[in-house]
Amino acid sequence: MKRIGVLTSGGDSPGMNAAVRAVVRKAIYHDVEVYGVFHGYAGLIEGQIEKLELGSVGDIIHRGGTKLYTARCPEFKTIEGQKKGIEQLKKHGIEGLVVIGGDGSYMGAKKLTEHGFPCVGVPGTIDNDIPGTDFTIGFDTALNTVIDAIDKIRDTATSHERTYVIEVMGRHAGDIALWSGLAGGAETILIPEVNYDMDDVVARLNRGHDRGKKHSIIIVAEGVGSGVEFGKKIEEATSLETRVSVLGHIQRGGSPTAFDRVLASRLGAFAVELILQGKGGRCVGIQSNQLVDHDILEILDRKHTVDQSMYQLSQELSI
Ligand code: ADP
Repeated sequence: MKRIGVLTSGGDSPGMNAAVRAVVRKAIYHDVEVYGVFHGYAGLIEGQIEKLELGSVGDIIHRGGTKLYTARCPEFKTIEGQKKGIEQLKKHGIEGLVVIGGDGSYMGAKKLTEHGFPCVGVPGTIDNDIPGTDFTIGFDTALNTVIDAIDKIRDTATSHERTYVIEVMGRHAGDIALWSGLAGGAETILIPEVNYDMDDVVARLNRGHDRGKKHSIIIVAEGVGSGVEFGKKIEEATSLETRVSVLGHIQRGGSPTAFDRVLASRLGAFAVELILQGKGGRCVGIQSNQLVDHDILEILDRKHTVDQSMYQLSQELSI
């Protein structure tokens, strides 16, 4: 293989740039040319493809977002869209593609591989919701952003003796809520994977208040429902002064943590190794600190699960 491509797709995540840098430098290290596809699958269809050099990825390891830009592209879900993409890749002499993104992007990579074009997926999403890897690129940074916000909100919550509901990202996966809630010492954590009992939430808050707690923090993953609505219900049920903070897109930005930069560098380089061995339809990950690769199809068939023992621990530590 003499020429490969790389693209970022779907929701951006901090560390995608470090992954792109690793792909480019690892390939060039092996005397393979690298072409960047801009704006994900949308740019692939349109032929937004440019050669990347060592210097093209200089000064980006510490930047959030993605230098290759990203996009959502419904057309790529059609066979016609996928064929247009393959034509563009062939036109540029590209023989393999590294796709950095979430499970939607993995679907695209799988489709290209089925059409005979080898692709390897790299897990780039803050949600940590891709099976076959303990961590996705961007999760650790998002988590640290949330912790920073919780700590700040806790200061004002204590001063005013209020209850705070903090809504964090996670439509289907509760990892950001669970990990940040545990690390931030939240009283209650609500995640999409576990049903909650409102009476229990209220009883916990009242119990804390009765024993003199100055504040309470409740973390709600967006997939559970609106934090604002939940805050109203809590205030009605407890008569405790309650405020709501919806953290929103700050969770997707910022300079990647050292953990995410190292993860992105390892996974990006590993994806290139697989592509250069002619392997397609694979996705890379890290499990017990070992680099692993899986069949994309097998990963897409699996459902992401949260660590139930961690959820139980969060309950036990917040009595
Ligand atoms: P993420 O990769 O973050 O999960 P999306 O789910 O939005 O983000 O997917 C990103 C892109 O991947 C979509 O806009 C589309 O171009 C492509 N994609 C998603 N599902 C499919 C599919 N079934 N077949 C082909 N391409 C897909």
